[in-house]
Amino acid sequence: MPPSFGPSPVRRAAAVLTPPAAVVATAHIAPAATWLPVVRRRVPRLAGVGHPSHVALTFDDGPDPDSTPRFLDALEELGVRATFFVLGDGAVRHPSVVRETFRRGHELAVHGWSHDRPWLPAPADDVRALLRAAGVVRDLTGRRPLWYRPPYGILTSGRWAAARAAGMRPVLWTAWGRDWTAGATAASVRSAVAAGLRGGGTVLLHDTDRMSAPGCWRATLGALPGIVHGCRRAGLAVGPLAEHGVHRR
Ligand SMILES: [Zn+2]
Repeated sequence: MPPSFGPSPVRRAAAVLTPPAAVVATAHIAPAATWLPVVRRRVPRLAGVGHPSHVALTFDDGPDPDSTPRFLDALEELGVRATFFVLGDGAVRHPSVVRETFRRGHELAVHGWSHDRPWLPAPADDVRALLRAAGVVRDLTGRRPLWYRPPYGILTSGRWAAARAAGMRPVLWTAWGRDWTAGATAASVRSAVAAGLRGGGTVLLHDTDRMSAPGCWRATLGALPGIVHGCRRAGLAVGPLAEHGVHRR
């Protein structure tokens, strides 16, 4: 679940941060819809802007034994591979889903250990959580994860540093399906993605309702063929972040 429209998280000082982190930390007091355009303009690689002829397809909040396999089947039918940002606490509960995702050719990345908000600075906890989550993914797939996307898109300076310490690059998104809401339908998800998507973009979707309205993953699943075919009609290849042309470090 990406956006944060609830009470503002604790304001963090941005002055001492590196420029990209400063942009994000300053922005994390505001809803993602407000600050993401700034990130896209000033730090396009952080927003997941890659090669203009490619679209990166990404899924957050899994693994989910009920819904993730449905996505794996649909993606196989479409001939598409994607990047799955998994939660560490879900990966240890459902390791076979993570292994199967990898076996089908998809890329595994880290969404955090649990889906929490950084209300207070906790840099040591951030490092421990991301190292632990990255370790679980590495143990299940044999590959070190390259990407990190924080829950709600809230990238504090502590999480930024923790991702780097764990050898991962933070990546947000340029387009989303708003597929976490109770009223989401396949048509609404398709149209939300189409409204924000350009060549080089990174699409955020969810392969589970763990953090969303119950059953809303069905809307995402229903939207997938239209999203992929729409990209292809526009001459855009669809694939994982690994093939998106953004630098890893
Ligand atoms: Zn999430």
